[in-house]
Amino acid sequence: MGKFPAVIAFATLLPALAAAQVAPLAQRAEALVAKGESQVIAWRRWIHQNPELSYQETKTAATIAAALAAMPGMKVQEGIAKTGVKGVLVGGKPGPVIALRADMDALPVEEKTGLAFASVSKAMWRGRESFVAHACGHDAHVAMLLGAADALSKLREDLPGTVVFLFQPAEEWGGDDDGTPSGATLMVREGVLADPKVELVLGQHVGGESPSGTIRLRKGSIMASGDDFRIVVKGKGSHGAMPWGGKDPILVAAEIALSMQTIVSREANLVDEGPLVVTVGVLQGGNRENIIPETAELRGTIRTLSEKTRRLAHESVKRKAEKIAEASGLTAEVTLTIGYPVLTNHPGLVERVWPALERAAGAGRVLEVPPIMAAEDFGAFGAGIPTMYWFLAASPLGDRPGPPNHSPFFTIDETVLAVGTRALVQASLQVLSPRAPVR
Ligand SMILES: [Zn+2]
Ligand SMILES: [Zn+2]
Repeated sequence: MGKFPAVIAFATLLPALAAAQVAPLAQRAEALVAKGESQVIAWRRWIHQNPELSYQETKTAATIAAALAAMPGMKVQEGIAKTGVKGVLVGGKPGPVIALRADMDALPVEEKTGLAFASVSKAMWRGRESFVAHACGHDAHVAMLLGAADALSKLREDLPGTVVFLFQPAEEWGGDDDGTPSGATLMVREGVLADPKVELVLGQHVGGESPSGTIRLRKGSIMASGDDFRIVVKGKGSHGAMPWGGKDPILVAAEIALSMQTIVSREANLVDEGPLVVTVGVLQGGNRENIIPETAELRGTIRTLSEKTRRLAHESVKRKAEKIAEASGLTAEVTLTIGYPVLTNHPGLVERVWPALERAAGAGRVLEVPPIMAAEDFGAFGAGIPTMYWFLAASPLGDRPGPPNHSPFFTIDETVLAVGTRALVQASLQVLSPRAPVR
């Protein structure tokens, strides 16, 4: 193995050379983020006070577009996926094309944080007027991405590659009856990753976890897919005292609900493919004690970390519902609504970016965590290219967990805004640095 000492010596030199090129940029970036911190806080507070629901983010988009337009070298495109905004920053040196993503939408929640800049908004949500609040922290995501864009734009002459900034609408959309998908899917469909051709996408999410300022992630699946089902069991109405005159859809719906759990316990390979959750959240039918109704309805959700298990669960829900109904002489109509895909962290990308995140959060403050069974549409950016996504703990209570995302009391420790901005900037510099592409 000592046959090619010169080659080996050169190979070991390469990372050192690359590091030497990146180090000054990383240091300059750190200073720029520190200088921009108060602006990031101001952006976050304004967006927090003016939250907008999915696909209604017009004021948010205008604010983002104006902020981007003021950054040197930034090309801005508005109106992508209805209300999305894209910024493109071409660096002064050749290199890869990477994208950073922030979601922009708020939730139909009444804010109860008592913050001086609490939400003042109301809006229509599926036909009803509702309070609106940034109860999932997307205000922070937008502010941190603007901060990162600002810092990187000031380094553009020395930047080896291109950074695309994706401000995505409607992450909380969750699909609708008219078939409109959530914001990430719609952005991808409208070609947001095509020109320039994006090679990888990074994203982050704040949460109520502690200790505040730590970054949490894992290689592989990190968030579950989320699909919904609706089953209508059709029977035959009758007097409750004479059930033999009808076909009882209530009893069959109950049997179907019970059998759903055997998909998890008897069919899915939980050892090799990870967890599966099938939840029936709605079980409805009938309106009086002594009437067997014509129909009953079940609605539920399927969560998994494996596309293989996801397909199995789709097939099993349909088969069980139809066959259980058939066994009692009834019918079941099954509708599956395909939601968010599994969100997967590319292992090679995680390995490469980890030191940059440590640089941003501090030594020992980047932690490996188990996956979570909630779903997020960021996975839609990962069809065919590597993606990476991390959680930024932002509990306002320091070492104790804060109110969870989507709670009326959800808010963040604002000092994490600088950590998250640094994380985006340092991760970008890391993947732009001259080295073989991620495989
Ligand atoms: Zn959310
Ligand atoms: Zn969210």
